[in-house]
Amino acid sequence: MSIGMMKRRVVVLGATGSIGGSTMRVARALPEKIEIVGLSGRQNKALLLDLAREFPSAALCAGEELSAAWLSSRLGGRPVRHGDQGLLNLAAISEADLVLVAIVGTAGLKPALRALECGKDLAVASKEILVMAGEEVMAVASRTGSRILPVDSEHNAIFQCLEGRDPSTVKRLILTCSGGPFRNSSEADLLNVTPEQALRHPTWAMGRKISIDSATLFNKGLEMIEAKWLFGIPMEKIDVVIHPQSIIHSMVEFIDGSIMAQMSSTDMALPVQFALTYPERHEGPCVPLDLAALGRLDFQAPRTDLFPALDLARRAGSAGGTLPAVLNAANEAAVEDFLNGRCSFPQIWENVARAMDQVPFVEHPSLEQLIEADLAARTYLKRR
Ligand code: NAD
Ligand code: MG
Repeated sequence: MSIGMMKRRVVVLGATGSIGGSTMRVARALPEKIEIVGLSGRQNKALLLDLAREFPSAALCAGEELSAAWLSSRLGGRPVRHGDQGLLNLAAISEADLVLVAIVGTAGLKPALRALECGKDLAVASKEILVMAGEEVMAVASRTGSRILPVDSEHNAIFQCLEGRDPSTVKRLILTCSGGPFRNSSEADLLNVTPEQALRHPTWAMGRKISIDSATLFNKGLEMIEAKWLFGIPMEKIDVVIHPQSIIHSMVEFIDGSIMAQMSSTDMALPVQFALTYPERHEGPCVPLDLAALGRLDFQAPRTDLFPALDLARRAGSAGGTLPAVLNAANEAAVEDFLNGRCSFPQIWENVARAMDQVPFVEHPSLEQLIEADLAARTYLKRR
Protein backbone atom coordinates (compact mmCIF):
# COMPACT_ATOMS: atom_id res chain seq x y z
CA MET A 1 0.00 0.00 0.00
CA SER A 2 1.24 3.49 -0.80
CA ILE A 3 2.09 5.63 2.20
CA GLY A 4 1.26 8.79 0.25
CA MET A 5 -2.07 10.44 0.93
CA MET A 6 -4.53 11.17 -1.77
CA LYS A 7 -4.23 14.46 -3.54
CA ARG A 8 -5.73 17.26 -1.50
CA ARG A 9 -8.07 19.40 -3.61
CA VAL A 10 -7.72 23.00 -2.51
CA VAL A 11 -9.62 26.25 -2.97
CA VAL A 12 -7.46 29.33 -2.30
CA LEU A 13 -9.36 32.45 -1.26
CA GLY A 14 -7.01 35.43 -1.63
CA ALA A 15 -4.75 33.66 -4.14
CA THR A 16 -3.26 36.92 -5.46
CA GLY A 17 -1.87 38.06 -2.09
CA SER A 18 1.30 37.34 -0.18
CA ILE A 19 0.05 34.09 1.44
CA GLY A 20 -1.55 33.22 -1.90
CA GLY A 21 1.90 33.50 -3.51
CA SER A 22 3.46 31.17 -0.92
CA THR A 23 0.60 28.74 -1.53
CA MET A 24 1.24 28.72 -5.27
CA ARG A 25 4.93 27.91 -4.65
CA VAL A 26 3.88 24.95 -2.51
CA ALA A 27 1.33 23.77 -5.08
CA ARG A 28 3.92 23.98 -7.90
CA ALA A 29 6.45 22.01 -5.83
CA LEU A 30 3.97 19.27 -4.82
CA PRO A 31 1.65 18.71 -7.81
CA GLU A 32 1.13 15.07 -6.84
CA LYS A 33 -0.12 16.12 -3.37
CA ILE A 34 -2.00 19.35 -4.01
CA GLU A 35 -4.50 20.15 -6.71
CA ILE A 36 -5.70 23.73 -7.01
CA VAL A 37 -9.45 23.52 -7.73
CA GLY A 38 -10.45 27.12 -6.95
CA LEU A 39 -8.87 30.58 -6.93
CA SER A 40 -10.09 34.01 -5.87
CA GLY A 41 -8.51 37.44 -6.02
CA ARG A 42 -9.89 40.92 -5.65
CA GLN A 43 -7.37 43.63 -6.54
CA ASN A 44 -4.84 42.13 -8.97
CA LYS A 45 -6.84 40.76 -11.89
CA ALA A 46 -3.79 40.38 -14.17
CA LEU A 47 -2.24 37.99 -11.64
CA LEU A 48 -5.53 36.12 -11.27
CA LEU A 49 -5.55 35.74 -15.07
CA ASP A 50 -2.04 34.24 -15.00
CA LEU A 51 -3.03 31.83 -12.23
CA ALA A 52 -6.22 30.88 -14.07
CA ARG A 53 -4.10 29.93 -17.11
CA GLU A 54 -1.65 28.00 -14.96
CA PHE A 55 -4.49 26.03 -13.29
CA PRO A 56 -6.89 25.58 -16.20
CA SER A 57 -9.48 23.53 -14.34
CA ALA A 58 -9.74 25.81 -11.28
CA ALA A 59 -13.05 27.52 -10.54
CA LEU A 60 -12.57 31.29 -10.35
CA CYS A 61 -13.88 34.29 -8.42
CA ALA A 62 -12.97 37.92 -9.09
CA GLY A 63 -13.81 41.09 -7.17
CA GLU A 64 -16.29 42.97 -9.33
CA GLU A 65 -18.55 41.93 -12.14
CA LEU A 66 -16.46 43.91 -14.63
CA SER A 67 -13.27 42.11 -13.62
CA ALA A 68 -15.08 38.78 -13.92
CA ALA A 69 -16.17 39.67 -17.47
CA TRP A 70 -12.65 40.88 -18.32
CA LEU A 71 -11.18 37.57 -17.12
CA SER A 72 -13.80 35.40 -18.75
CA SER A 73 -13.31 37.05 -22.14
CA ARG A 74 -9.57 36.31 -21.96
CA LEU A 75 -10.16 32.70 -20.92
CA GLY A 76 -12.36 31.63 -23.83
CA GLY A 77 -15.59 32.23 -21.94
CA ARG A 78 -14.59 30.21 -18.85
CA PRO A 79 -17.09 31.05 -16.09
CA VAL A 80 -15.85 33.51 -13.44
CA ARG A 81 -17.80 34.22 -10.27
CA HIS A 82 -17.56 37.59 -8.55
CA GLY A 83 -18.19 39.48 -5.33
CA ASP A 84 -19.20 38.23 -1.89
CA GLN A 85 -21.77 35.81 -3.27
CA GLY A 86 -19.19 34.39 -5.66
CA LEU A 87 -16.79 33.80 -2.77
CA LEU A 88 -19.45 32.00 -0.72
CA ASN A 89 -20.16 29.88 -3.73
CA LEU A 90 -16.51 29.08 -4.39
CA ALA A 91 -16.01 28.03 -0.75
CA ALA A 92 -18.69 25.35 -1.24
CA ILE A 93 -17.74 23.73 -4.57
CA SER A 94 -17.98 19.95 -4.45
CA GLU A 95 -14.55 19.51 -6.10
CA ALA A 96 -12.77 20.78 -2.95
CA ASP A 97 -11.65 18.98 0.24
CA LEU A 98 -9.98 22.00 1.82
CA VAL A 99 -10.45 25.76 1.67
CA LEU A 100 -7.51 28.04 2.47
CA VAL A 101 -8.65 31.50 3.60
CA ALA A 102 -5.95 34.11 2.96
CA ILE A 103 -8.10 37.20 2.51
CA VAL A 104 -6.97 40.22 4.48
CA GLY A 105 -9.37 41.25 7.28
CA THR A 106 -12.77 39.73 8.05
CA ALA A 107 -14.15 39.43 4.50
CA GLY A 108 -13.26 35.72 4.61
CA LEU A 109 -15.45 34.93 7.63
CA LYS A 110 -18.66 33.94 5.84
CA PRO A 111 -16.87 31.89 3.16
CA ALA A 112 -14.90 30.14 5.95
CA LEU A 113 -18.12 29.24 7.77
CA ARG A 114 -19.67 28.07 4.51
CA ALA A 115 -16.70 25.76 3.83
CA LEU A 116 -16.99 24.27 7.33
CA GLU A 117 -20.75 23.82 6.97
CA CYS A 118 -20.04 21.82 3.80
CA GLY A 119 -17.72 19.57 5.84
CA LYS A 120 -14.53 20.81 4.21
CA ASP A 121 -11.29 21.28 6.12
CA LEU A 122 -10.28 24.88 6.64
CA ALA A 123 -6.73 26.24 6.53
CA VAL A 124 -6.80 29.66 8.21
CA ALA A 125 -4.31 32.40 7.39
CA SER A 126 -6.84 35.18 8.04
CA LYS A 127 -6.39 35.52 11.81
CA GLU A 128 -8.96 38.34 11.86
CA ILE A 129 -11.82 35.88 11.35
CA LEU A 130 -10.81 33.89 14.45
CA VAL A 131 -10.41 37.08 16.47
CA MET A 132 -13.86 38.26 15.44
CA ALA A 133 -15.77 34.99 15.61
CA GLY A 134 -13.46 32.26 16.92
CA GLU A 135 -16.11 30.67 19.11
CA GLU A 136 -18.53 30.33 16.19
CA VAL A 137 -15.86 29.05 13.77
CA MET A 138 -14.63 26.40 16.23
CA ALA A 139 -18.20 25.37 17.12
CA VAL A 140 -19.20 24.86 13.47
CA ALA A 141 -16.03 22.85 12.85
CA SER A 142 -16.65 20.55 15.77
CA ARG A 143 -20.28 20.08 14.67
CA THR A 144 -19.34 19.11 11.10
CA GLY A 145 -16.12 17.27 11.96
CA SER A 146 -14.04 19.59 9.78
CA ARG A 147 -10.43 20.21 10.71
CA ILE A 148 -9.06 23.69 11.28
CA LEU A 149 -5.42 23.93 10.23
CA PRO A 150 -3.52 27.05 11.27
CA VAL A 151 -1.36 28.76 8.63
CA ASP A 152 -0.20 31.70 10.72
CA SER A 153 3.43 30.73 11.43
CA GLU A 154 3.13 30.99 15.24
CA HIS A 155 0.01 28.85 15.40
CA ASN A 156 1.36 26.41 12.87
CA ALA A 157 4.45 26.09 15.10
CA ILE A 158 2.31 25.47 18.20
CA PHE A 159 0.19 22.99 16.24
CA GLN A 160 3.41 21.11 15.39
CA CYS A 161 4.68 21.24 19.01
CA LEU A 162 1.35 20.00 20.37
CA GLU A 163 0.84 17.15 17.90
CA GLY A 164 -0.45 14.13 19.76
CA ARG A 165 0.17 15.54 23.25
CA ASP A 166 -2.28 15.66 26.11
CA PRO A 167 -3.61 19.27 26.29
CA SER A 168 -3.86 19.05 30.10
CA THR A 169 -0.04 18.88 30.21
CA VAL A 170 0.35 22.32 28.61
CA LYS A 171 1.52 25.02 31.02
CA ARG A 172 1.58 27.91 28.56
CA LEU A 173 1.94 28.89 24.93
CA ILE A 174 4.81 31.25 24.11
CA LEU A 175 4.25 33.26 20.95
CA THR A 176 7.43 34.68 19.47
CA CYS A 177 7.36 38.19 18.05
CA SER A 178 10.01 39.88 15.89
CA GLY A 179 9.25 43.20 17.60
CA GLY A 180 8.77 44.85 14.22
CA PRO A 181 10.81 47.73 12.78
CA PHE A 182 10.45 49.89 15.93
CA ARG A 183 11.56 47.34 18.52
CA ASN A 184 14.27 49.71 19.80
CA SER A 185 12.57 53.07 19.09
CA SER A 186 11.80 55.70 21.72
CA GLU A 187 8.35 57.15 22.43
CA ALA A 188 9.37 60.32 20.57
CA ASP A 189 10.48 58.32 17.51
CA LEU A 190 7.10 56.58 17.38
CA LEU A 191 5.24 59.89 17.03
CA ASN A 192 6.80 60.56 13.62
CA VAL A 193 6.70 57.10 12.07
CA THR A 194 5.64 57.20 8.39
CA PRO A 195 3.75 54.44 6.53
CA GLU A 196 6.89 53.75 4.46
CA GLN A 197 8.94 53.10 7.61
CA ALA A 198 6.20 51.01 9.18
CA LEU A 199 5.80 48.86 6.04
CA ARG A 200 9.50 47.87 6.11
CA HIS A 201 9.41 44.71 8.21
CA PRO A 202 12.84 43.48 9.38
CA THR A 203 12.33 39.73 8.82
CA TRP A 204 9.14 38.98 6.83
CA ALA A 205 7.80 40.16 3.44
CA MET A 206 4.00 40.39 3.83
CA GLY A 207 0.87 42.26 2.76
CA ARG A 208 0.40 45.90 3.83
CA LYS A 209 -2.12 45.47 6.62
CA ILE A 210 -0.24 42.75 8.48
CA SER A 211 3.01 44.69 8.06
CA ILE A 212 1.51 47.67 9.92
CA ASP A 213 0.04 45.26 12.49
CA SER A 214 3.53 43.86 13.03
CA ALA A 215 4.89 47.36 13.65
CA THR A 216 2.20 48.26 16.24
CA LEU A 217 2.31 44.71 17.74
CA PHE A 218 -1.44 44.40 17.11
CA ASN A 219 -0.46 41.44 14.95
CA LYS A 220 0.79 39.67 18.07
CA GLY A 221 -2.26 40.82 20.01
CA LEU A 222 -4.57 39.36 17.36
CA GLU A 223 -2.49 36.18 17.42
CA MET A 224 -2.94 35.81 21.20
CA ILE A 225 -6.71 35.78 20.70
CA GLU A 226 -6.34 33.51 17.66
CA ALA A 227 -4.36 31.05 19.82
CA LYS A 228 -7.00 31.08 22.54
CA TRP A 229 -9.63 29.79 20.10
CA LEU A 230 -7.49 27.46 18.02
CA PHE A 231 -6.02 25.61 20.99
CA GLY A 232 -8.71 26.17 23.63
CA ILE A 233 -6.19 27.77 26.03
CA PRO A 234 -7.19 30.64 28.36
CA MET A 235 -5.58 34.05 27.77
CA GLU A 236 -3.58 33.94 31.01
CA LYS A 237 -1.66 30.93 29.67
CA ILE A 238 -0.63 32.76 26.49
CA ASP A 239 2.63 34.72 26.64
CA VAL A 240 4.70 36.71 24.16
CA VAL A 241 8.49 36.94 23.92
CA ILE A 242 10.41 39.18 21.52
CA HIS A 243 12.68 37.12 19.26
CA PRO A 244 14.16 39.43 16.61
CA GLN A 245 15.48 36.71 14.25
CA SER A 246 12.02 35.09 13.70
CA ILE A 247 13.57 31.61 13.54
CA ILE A 248 11.69 30.03 16.44
CA HIS A 249 8.11 30.48 15.29
CA SER A 250 6.59 29.77 18.71
CA MET A 251 6.86 27.41 21.68
CA VAL A 252 4.84 25.30 24.08
CA GLU A 253 5.86 24.95 27.71
CA PHE A 254 4.67 21.76 29.43
CA ILE A 255 3.95 21.27 33.13
CA ASP A 256 7.24 19.42 33.70
CA GLY A 257 9.17 22.51 32.56
CA SER A 258 10.05 21.21 29.08
CA ILE A 259 9.70 23.74 26.25
CA MET A 260 9.13 22.54 22.68
CA ALA A 261 9.97 24.98 19.87
CA GLN A 262 9.52 24.85 16.10
CA MET A 263 12.25 26.42 13.94
CA SER A 264 12.52 27.10 10.22
CA SER A 265 13.54 29.90 7.87
CA THR A 266 11.26 32.96 7.56
CA ASP A 267 9.23 31.58 4.68
CA MET A 268 5.45 31.17 4.86
CA ALA A 269 5.67 28.28 2.37
CA LEU A 270 6.46 25.96 5.29
CA PRO A 271 3.36 26.58 7.43
CA VAL A 272 1.20 26.67 4.29
CA GLN A 273 2.61 23.31 3.20
CA PHE A 274 2.19 21.73 6.64
CA ALA A 275 -1.44 22.83 6.72
CA LEU A 276 -2.17 21.58 3.19
CA THR A 277 -0.43 18.20 3.51
CA TYR A 278 -1.13 17.55 7.22
CA PRO A 279 -0.35 15.09 8.75
CA GLU A 280 2.27 14.27 6.12
CA ARG A 281 5.65 15.91 5.62
CA HIS A 282 7.24 16.31 2.20
CA GLU A 283 10.24 17.98 0.64
CA GLY A 284 8.94 21.35 -0.45
CA PRO A 285 10.11 24.80 -1.53
CA CYS A 286 11.09 26.12 1.92
CA VAL A 287 14.78 27.07 2.17
CA PRO A 288 16.59 24.98 4.81
CA LEU A 289 17.88 26.64 7.94
CA ASP A 290 21.64 27.06 8.49
CA LEU A 291 21.98 27.41 12.25
CA ALA A 292 25.75 27.90 12.25
CA ALA A 293 25.45 30.72 9.71
CA LEU A 294 22.74 32.28 11.88
CA GLY A 295 25.03 32.14 14.93
CA ARG A 296 22.62 33.18 17.65
CA LEU A 297 19.01 33.49 18.74
CA ASP A 298 17.98 36.40 21.00
CA PHE A 299 15.02 36.94 23.31
CA GLN A 300 13.70 39.89 25.29
CA ALA A 301 10.53 40.92 27.07
CA PRO A 302 8.04 43.00 25.03
CA ARG A 303 7.87 46.73 25.90
CA THR A 304 4.19 46.78 26.79
CA ASP A 305 4.37 50.39 28.05
CA LEU A 306 5.36 51.73 24.62
CA PHE A 307 3.34 49.19 22.61
CA PRO A 308 -0.10 48.95 24.31
CA ALA A 309 -1.47 46.54 21.68
CA LEU A 310 -0.61 43.45 23.73
CA ASP A 311 -2.45 44.66 26.85
CA LEU A 312 -5.45 45.76 24.79
CA ALA A 313 -5.61 42.32 23.16
CA ARG A 314 -5.23 40.53 26.49
CA ARG A 315 -8.12 42.60 27.84
CA ALA A 316 -10.28 41.86 24.79
CA GLY A 317 -9.42 38.16 24.76
CA SER A 318 -10.15 37.78 28.49
CA ALA A 319 -13.44 39.71 28.39
CA GLY A 320 -14.58 37.87 25.25
CA GLY A 321 -18.05 38.73 23.92
CA THR A 322 -17.96 41.47 21.32
CA LEU A 323 -14.72 43.06 22.59
CA PRO A 324 -12.29 41.15 20.30
CA ALA A 325 -14.47 41.96 17.27
CA VAL A 326 -14.40 45.65 18.24
CA LEU A 327 -10.64 45.61 18.74
CA ASN A 328 -10.15 43.93 15.40
CA ALA A 329 -12.48 46.18 13.39
CA ALA A 330 -11.16 49.36 15.03
CA ASN A 331 -7.64 48.24 14.23
CA GLU A 332 -8.51 47.58 10.57
CA ALA A 333 -10.04 51.04 10.30
CA ALA A 334 -7.14 52.71 12.12
CA VAL A 335 -4.54 50.98 9.93
CA GLU A 336 -6.31 52.29 6.84
CA ASP A 337 -6.41 55.78 8.33
CA PHE A 338 -2.69 55.58 9.11
CA LEU A 339 -1.82 54.36 5.60
CA ASN A 340 -3.85 57.22 4.10
CA GLY A 341 -2.22 59.84 6.31
CA ARG A 342 -5.37 60.45 8.39
CA CYS A 343 -3.85 59.46 11.73
CA SER A 344 -0.43 59.15 13.34
CA PHE A 345 1.20 55.86 14.28
CA PRO A 346 0.44 56.09 18.05
CA GLN A 347 -3.15 57.10 17.24
CA ILE A 348 -3.72 53.56 15.96
CA TRP A 349 -3.53 52.37 19.59
CA GLU A 350 -5.57 55.32 20.87
CA ASN A 351 -8.33 54.75 18.33
CA VAL A 352 -8.59 51.06 19.15
CA ALA A 353 -8.67 51.77 22.90
CA ARG A 354 -11.41 54.41 22.41
CA ALA A 355 -13.56 52.12 20.31
CA MET A 356 -13.17 49.36 22.93
CA ASP A 357 -14.39 51.79 25.61
CA GLN A 358 -17.24 53.29 23.57
CA VAL A 359 -18.88 50.54 21.52
CA PRO A 360 -21.57 48.79 23.63
CA PHE A 361 -20.44 45.41 24.98
CA VAL A 362 -22.43 42.21 24.47
CA GLU A 363 -21.26 39.25 26.53
CA HIS A 364 -22.78 36.36 24.57
CA PRO A 365 -23.20 37.71 21.03
CA SER A 366 -24.77 35.95 18.08
CA LEU A 367 -22.94 36.06 14.75
CA GLU A 368 -25.19 38.98 13.73
CA GLN A 369 -24.28 40.87 16.90
CA LEU A 370 -20.59 40.31 16.19
CA ILE A 371 -21.06 41.73 12.70
CA GLU A 372 -22.95 44.67 14.21
CA ALA A 373 -20.17 45.31 16.75
CA ASP A 374 -17.60 45.22 13.94
CA LEU A 375 -19.62 47.81 12.01
CA ALA A 376 -20.24 49.94 15.11
CA ALA A 377 -16.48 50.17 15.77
CA ARG A 378 -15.80 51.30 12.20
CA THR A 379 -18.66 53.80 12.29
CA TYR A 380 -17.51 55.17 15.65
CA LEU A 381 -14.02 55.85 14.30
CA LYS A 382 -15.33 57.43 11.09
CA ARG A 383 -17.58 59.85 12.99
CA ARG A 384 -14.88 61.12 15.28
P1 NAD B 1 -2.45 40.53 0.95
O1 NAD B 1 -2.95 41.91 1.08
O2 NAD B 1 -1.11 40.30 0.34
O3 NAD B 1 -3.50 39.65 0.10
C1 NAD B 1 -4.87 39.63 0.40
C2 NAD B 1 -5.67 38.80 -0.61
O4 NAD B 1 -7.06 38.93 -0.30
C3 NAD B 1 -5.51 39.24 -2.06
O5 NAD B 1 -5.65 38.11 -2.90
C4 NAD B 1 -6.70 40.20 -2.25
O6 NAD B 1 -7.09 40.31 -3.61
C5 NAD B 1 -7.78 39.52 -1.43
N1 NAD B 1 -8.76 40.44 -0.85
C6 NAD B 1 -8.52 41.59 -0.17
N2 NAD B 1 -9.68 42.15 0.27
C7 NAD B 1 -10.67 41.32 -0.14
C8 NAD B 1 -12.10 41.34 0.00
N3 NAD B 1 -12.73 42.31 0.65
N4 NAD B 1 -12.81 40.32 -0.54
C9 NAD B 1 -12.18 39.31 -1.19
N5 NAD B 1 -10.85 39.25 -1.37
C10 NAD B 1 -10.10 40.23 -0.84
O7 NAD B 1 -2.52 39.88 2.41
P2 NAD B 1 -1.59 38.73 3.04
O8 NAD B 1 -0.37 39.33 3.62
O9 NAD B 1 -1.47 37.59 2.10
O10 NAD B 1 -2.49 38.30 4.29
C11 NAD B 1 -3.68 37.56 4.14
C12 NAD B 1 -4.11 37.07 5.51
O11 NAD B 1 -3.12 36.18 6.01
C13 NAD B 1 -4.25 38.19 6.54
O12 NAD B 1 -5.33 37.91 7.37
C14 NAD B 1 -2.95 38.12 7.34
O13 NAD B 1 -3.10 38.56 8.66
C15 NAD B 1 -2.66 36.63 7.28
N6 NAD B 1 -1.24 36.28 7.43
C16 NAD B 1 -0.34 36.73 6.50
C17 NAD B 1 1.02 36.43 6.63
C18 NAD B 1 2.02 36.87 5.60
O14 NAD B 1 3.19 36.49 5.68
N7 NAD B 1 1.67 37.65 4.60
C19 NAD B 1 1.44 35.66 7.73
C20 NAD B 1 0.50 35.21 8.65
C21 NAD B 1 -0.84 35.53 8.48
MG1 MG C 1 2.06 35.29 12.55
